[in-house]
Amino acid sequence: MTRIERRATCWLAVACVGLWLAAGCAPSVTEQQVLSNQGVPKYVFLFIGDGMGVAHVHAAEIYLGAVENAKAGKSGPGVRRLTMTQFPVSGLITTHSASSQVTDSAAAGTALATGHKTSNGTVSMDPDAKVCYTSVATAARARGMKVGIVSSTCITDATPAVFYAHQPYRGEQYEVGLQLAASPFEYIAGSEVGEAEGPQGNILDIARSKGVQVATSRYELATCRPGRRVFFQEKIPYEIDRPPHRVSLAELTAKGIELLDNPDGFFMMVEGGKIDGGGHNNDAAATIGEVLALDAAIDEAVRFYRKHPLETLIVVTADHETGAMALNNDYKRSPLGMAVLAGQTQSWNAFSFEVFNSVKETQTWTSTDDNIPEDLWQALGSRFGLTWDTLTDAEKTMLEDAYDASMASRGKVDEKGRRLAVPGYSRYEPLPLTAAKLVGYRAGIGWSTFGHSPMPVPVWAVGAAAWRFDGFNDNTDIPKGLAAAMRIELPEPQTAAEMARSDSAAPRQDYTNRADMVPTRK
Ligand SMILES: [Zn+2]
Repeated sequence: MTRIERRATCWLAVACVGLWLAAGCAPSVTEQQVLSNQGVPKYVFLFIGDGMGVAHVHAAEIYLGAVENAKAGKSGPGVRRLTMTQFPVSGLITTHSASSQVTDSAAAGTALATGHKTSNGTVSMDPDAKVCYTSVATAARARGMKVGIVSSTCITDATPAVFYAHQPYRGEQYEVGLQLAASPFEYIAGSEVGEAEGPQGNILDIARSKGVQVATSRYELATCRPGRRVFFQEKIPYEIDRPPHRVSLAELTAKGIELLDNPDGFFMMVEGGKIDGGGHNNDAAATIGEVLALDAAIDEAVRFYRKHPLETLIVVTADHETGAMALNNDYKRSPLGMAVLAGQTQSWNAFSFEVFNSVKETQTWTSTDDNIPEDLWQALGSRFGLTWDTLTDAEKTMLEDAYDASMASRGKVDEKGRRLAVPGYSRYEPLPLTAAKLVGYRAGIGWSTFGHSPMPVPVWAVGAAAWRFDGFNDNTDIPKGLAAAMRIELPEPQTAAEMARSDSAAPRQDYTNRADMVPTRK
């Protein structure tokens, strides 16, 4: 099939799914209009799953199918498609950075936001930190569109930061926070600021002094209305741990639509930021919960798309894959299949803070002959479904070994004050890590690293000019495609001094030598 034939097929698919997505809400849209929808999108959504590979997405679909089957008392395989995978246009992108085959979120985010490769750790600057790259969000705003940046993780972390900041090193969290406070974007929302206090004062206070309406609770966010720049920050837990009264990524997305919707259009980036954390910790249940949270946020965009099917573009992608997640056949060992994950009610992270940290502090432990205490076994049963009667001898040994590794490494730190790496567990707490990993194994989910992998990541798109994201591309093609779709130019790289004349969120210093920059935190 030629490229043109593929494009034609692609547009046909756009027509079918576009009409399906628009069904009932926009009856005036004809098939021909959707088919010929090469128009300029006025409303653009870019969803980024941090660390989200194809396996993470498909695991979520198998999980949903297995839960439905279990509820209906059916056996056999079942897959329920997520919203994102039903989009008519699909592709893959490569993710390598300028410095490594395996990227980090800063370099991958820079590629997704600006169309330029840079070195790992760098936020929208070149590898030598001599010039700044302009994000597609900034370019869209210069064209008169309103801009929103949303994340379920730290709002000064690399992925959201690449859209509004320029820093030689992502760990300079206070500097990134200063650029966040200076950003002209209309809506910035996410979990906490990485480093709120610094020499120029509190980041939130600085934002307030610039006229930004700062909301630090769900209630305060509900009171925000269009017209003022809004900055929301409140610590967002993993979806699996999120109580109903805490704000969700979908809610932050819906609020963004309410605040940004205007006749000149908007650009909104929404990051499912904690998929990455679930992958780093090889916690399948937490990871799948985050993919589902991102898909629920995408549902909000689709609701908007149904009202404006010819003027809206939704692109979903990822910055890299985390954990090298693999799906295998072991789920067959459990009658529940992948629904066995539903027996895990807490992330590894929440279990550490709510249960295991106090055990570590109070429990006496003298040698590897010591066993897991009874109350800890009960907690492993109630929070991970790892009850004594369901564990094999090998699984019990894995948990006992992890318990010993946790207790033996209590309070030990390296020269940088970081938790000591333990062979087989990296820097992660061995017992919670192993508990979550075991639940994943039962569901047929394995991992081959605690870090990122170089695997290409998925792209899905629907709406105006969605065809631009078809096929196998590079991550730098995403912002180029977005800019081309919106008929805007991505500006040439500028020095920090040049940028300061045109952009209030420019870096404070002109970094002429990367060696001048001293990383303070990983
Ligand atoms: Zn990561």
